[in-house]
Amino acid sequence: MATSIFKDIPPDVRQWREKLFALANEILMSPKEFDDYFHYVDNVYKFKRRNTSTRLNTGTFYYECRLYGEPTHTRMDHGNGEYEQVNKKRRHTPRRDADQCNVKMKVVRRRDENGQVISYSITKTDVTHHTHDLDRSDQIKRNSGVRDALRQEAEKLYSPSAILRIASNERSLNGREILKQIGGSHVRPQIFNCQP
Ligand SMILES: [Zn+2]
Repeated sequence: MATSIFKDIPPDVRQWREKLFALANEILMSPKEFDDYFHYVDNVYKFKRRNTSTRLNTGTFYYECRLYGEPTHTRMDHGNGEYEQVNKKRRHTPRRDADQCNVKMKVVRRRDENGQVISYSITKTDVTHHTHDLDRSDQIKRNSGVRDALRQEAEKLYSPSAILRIASNERSLNGREILKQIGGSHVRPQIFNCQP
């Protein structure tokens, strides 16, 4: 039987993730689109601070790339939320610019006069580009969209490792492909060992 897992993933998630990663132009999102897709890139960006203006009915949220100011080769993901400094001994080696990512972005949330959210506008705050690809971000951290998708399947009485087995099964290529599209290509069954 064809896979019936990951049914609730919104359409075009890969395209939205790539757009939100590259931020080539201003991205305008409806509240529904924002709710549907933004948590699939929360492994790429880290929230820094917010600014609200009651007069303008706006909230501005500032984010930076999780690799901001960090040499990408010094962290190794253990998949359980812990990272290891892999080159501690070389701490005094000057950081190379190429290992760091300086992308910062802002999300402007607009409300109407009744306080209803009407739109989100997402832009980079300067002209920098990511020094790495989206897959690298997926390798460093799982987004909450991936976590929720796996949890939802687990609630259907599958164990997460069984879901990954089903998703990796030849006859359900679709599952593995969906997992890849949402940023879960680096998820491995053993990451769940420490979870209840
Ligand atoms: Zn980056």
